[in-house]
Amino acid sequence: MEFALNDQQQSVRELARRYAQDRLLPGMQAREEAAAVDGDWPDLSRERAGLFEQGFGGMLLPEDEGGLGLDHLSFSLALEELSRVDPSMGQLLSNHNALGVGWMRHATLRLREAWLPRLATGQALAAWTRMDDLQQPLLALEDGPFLVLNGVKRMVTAGAIGDLLLVSAQLDGRRVLLALQAATEGVSRAREPKSLGLRGAGIGRVEFHNVRVDEEARLDTRTSGKGLMLIRATASLGWASVALGIMEGSARLAQDYAGQREQFNRTIDQFEAVRFKIVDMQVKLEATRSLVWRAAAAADAGQPTEFARLADLARLMGAEGAGFCGRECVQIHGGYGYSREYHAERFMRDARGMELVGGGVENLREAVAGQWLGLSQASLG
Ligand SMILES: Cc1cc2nc3c(=O)[nH]c(=O)nc-3n(C[C@H](O)[C@H](O)[C@H](O)COP(=O)(O)OP(=O)(O)OC[C@H]3O[C@@H](n4cnc5c(N)ncnc54)[C@H](O)[C@@H]3O)c2cc1C
Repeated sequence: MEFALNDQQQSVRELARRYAQDRLLPGMQAREEAAAVDGDWPDLSRERAGLFEQGFGGMLLPEDEGGLGLDHLSFSLALEELSRVDPSMGQLLSNHNALGVGWMRHATLRLREAWLPRLATGQALAAWTRMDDLQQPLLALEDGPFLVLNGVKRMVTAGAIGDLLLVSAQLDGRRVLLALQAATEGVSRAREPKSLGLRGAGIGRVEFHNVRVDEEARLDTRTSGKGLMLIRATASLGWASVALGIMEGSARLAQDYAGQREQFNRTIDQFEAVRFKIVDMQVKLEATRSLVWRAAAAADAGQPTEFARLADLARLMGAEGAGFCGRECVQIHGGYGYSREYHAERFMRDARGMELVGGGVENLREAVAGQWLGLSQASLG
């Protein structure tokens, strides 16, 4: 298997790396502080606009549909690089591309024409609501030619700031997927003010009160089983790439700090306990990268089943690896790691989110076990 990056992959990686360093890093702490204040919200418009100008809104969308037409490895590299600095932006773009644009490509011609160019250019940001709560799902009821939606979905990435809502609801016991403008009558949104991490990802609560949508809003009619599998696998690849970025960012931060901080007349990277932590972070990081790249390579080789299998494994390894690296990064920073003045604690908080997005790692483990053992109880929604 060839693991060298081609010219396009290298330049996408370089572009994302430079963007993250030059445009995301400088305002990072200020955005964190703003997000920590009740009733305040970090203004992401400048960062978002910049990212979309680079074409990051339609990474996997073919060029003739207005996107960059990148392969899956380039998509993953871009998310990793952005997340090394700002995991919130990585998470926002991962969902927008994999689930927002991903789902809309399976919509009716009318919806595709209305939304895809806007999603690709950043005139519109997509948010996706997964149906987690099976006891109290979002309910859709038929009323003549309309569907009437009622329910609440909390903790939605970009839920507070997205322009297009992709909504998974229950209609007569079946799941139905709808695309609607966030500014629809009956939809109200609020940010989740106390989110532990990923505070720049516009995480919000979306409420539906007798929201009337017509048949045109339904988009699951064209989606085949294979199409569905590809969307889910791409979402997993995106989240695994964000997690990989967190691992990379926290491992580098820890290593740099350990090379500078002196105790007992030597830098702390001379102490075995610290050295072993740095090695363990690297092992997990490189192992995750291998899985992420293999998953992306399977996607680009047109092997959807293998792609889906590896992407789930990469997401599992990445989510838990990011948690590990975030914690060890704080530990290596000692007491300073516990201070909000440093990036270490932010990586640790952001990493926890990766263990919950898309249904949580327990649910994911159950789904993976189900594929192997044929007894799936979990639903990836
Ligand atoms: C940072 C972040 C971003 C998010 N972004 C989005 C988004 O964009 N869109 C969206 O719709 N939602 C989003 N969510 C919500 C997320 O999908 C849910 O929080 C997650 O699916 C868990 O659902 P729940 O909160 O209802 O927990 P519950 O389902 O109540 O789970 C509670 C616990 O039980 C475990 N559990 C649940 N079911 C099983 C099972 N079958 N087998 C084993 N264990 C199980 C869970 O893993 C968890 O540990 C986001 C959440 C976070 C933290």
